[in-house]
Amino acid sequence: MKQLVGRKQMLALAGLLCLYGLPNASRGRQETRQIVVDTGHTMGNPGAIGPGGTREFDLNRQFTIALTKALKAEGLGVIDIAAQGSPASLQARTKASGKAALFVSIHHDSMQQAWLDAGRSREFSGYALFVSGSKPHYARSLDCARSISRKLQAIGEHPSLYHATPVEGENRPLLDRRLGIHRFDNLAVLQTAESPALLIEVGVLANPDQEARLASQQFADKAANAVAHGVRQCLPAEP
Ligand SMILES: [Zn+2]
Repeated sequence: MKQLVGRKQMLALAGLLCLYGLPNASRGRQETRQIVVDTGHTMGNPGAIGPGGTREFDLNRQFTIALTKALKAEGLGVIDIAAQGSPASLQARTKASGKAALFVSIHHDSMQQAWLDAGRSREFSGYALFVSGSKPHYARSLDCARSISRKLQAIGEHPSLYHATPVEGENRPLLDRRLGIHRFDNLAVLQTAESPALLIEVGVLANPDQEARLASQQFADKAANAVAHGVRQCLPAEP
C-alpha cells in the first residue's frame, strides 16, 4: 500500500511531510555510492494487512534488512533510516536523502477494498516500481528502476500491473509495461526526496497465494540480492 496524495489522505500526508520534510533539505554533493533505504510505514501504522494477518511493515522491515546486507555486499554504503524500528527524525531523513546516490522506499502491495470484496485478490501477483516524473533526477531514477526490474525478472519474478488497471484510484501511467514501471508524481516519498528516488512494491501481500512466500526469509534474501545487483549497475562509474 502506497502513501499517496489525495483528499482522503490529507491528514496522513501532513504527517508524511513532517517526516520527510519540505524543500529546505541539504543539497550537498551526492555521495555516489551511498544508498538510503526507507522502510514503508511504521510499527504503529503498519500499512497493508495480508489475508493471514501478516503486517506490511514487518515484511518491509525484513526486506530492508536483507537489502541493506545485499547492498553492502555489493560494496555500497547504506543508510537504513528505520534501523531502530521507528521513523528517523525529519532532519535525519532529509539530510540522508540529500546526499544519497539513490533513495529506495520498500513496500508490499495491497489492492483496493472493492477489488478484494469482489473476490479478485488472486488476479495479481508480482512487483511494481514507481518513479516520479517531476523530479530533476527523473532520468537516473528511471534508469535504476529499469536495472532493478531486469534483475528481478532474471530470478523469475514478474511485474504486477494492478496499479495500471483502468479503475478509479489506480490507472497509473506506465513508463515501461514490460518492466512494470509506473509514473506516480504525487507519492510523498518520491516528491520530497532530494536524490534519485524510487518506490518498490516487492509483491502483492493481499494475494492469499503470495502471503507466505513473501514472508519467507528465503524469498526476501533472493529478491533483495537481485535489487541490490540492479542498484549497483545503475549507479555512475566510480571516479
Ligand atoms: Zn505500503
